[in-house]
Amino acid sequence: MTNKNISKEEVDNLYNRLVISAKKRGYFLNHDENYAKNIVRGLLFNEKRYGYRSCPCRLASGVRAEDLDIICPCYYRDADVAEFGACVCRLYVSQKVYESKEVIKSIPERRPKKEFSPKADQPLAERFKNMPNEIKQPNHLSYPVWRCQVCGYICARDQAPGICSICGAAGERFSRFI
Ligand code: SF4
Repeated sequence: MTNKNISKEEVDNLYNRLVISAKKRGYFLNHDENYAKNIVRGLLFNEKRYGYRSCPCRLASGVRAEDLDIICPCYYRDADVAEFGACVCRLYVSQKVYESKEVIKSIPERRPKKEFSPKADQPLAERFKNMPNEIKQPNHLSYPVWRCQVCGYICARDQAPGICSICGAAGERFSRFI
């Protein structure tokens, strides 16, 4: 893969936007700016290649619907930052890692090997199956519930929001929860 078609200006622009957005939402980019910019370059390259910013550290299928979980920020970022101090690419790090400038070497892959399936929510539906109707469907639960696959934000409304109000992920990255 070559990143030669991505200009320094494009990288700087996206990097600066990510820094601002991360600060607003309590996230931290890798303190090593050169390293972080290389990852940003990879994101831009994938955007040119596939039409979306799939994770530069993972193999994308090239089919957006199949790669939704690895469009940056991926569904695994928050869990990896919480458990290992950084996401797989080490673009996002925990506050502790950011402040200590600790160098995180490698993060185990959390993405399931099997194709991501919305059936992951099935146990919850199963639990609701045996509940009395008045509990199962009181008025405030008459809306479908949507869950952001990136940060876990949950909201009940007719349709998934256009953008996650917590992490800023696009609406397509919500899945029906209940
Ligand atoms: S948040 Fe996920 S997609 Fe984005 S750079 Fe990190 S590992 Fe890759």
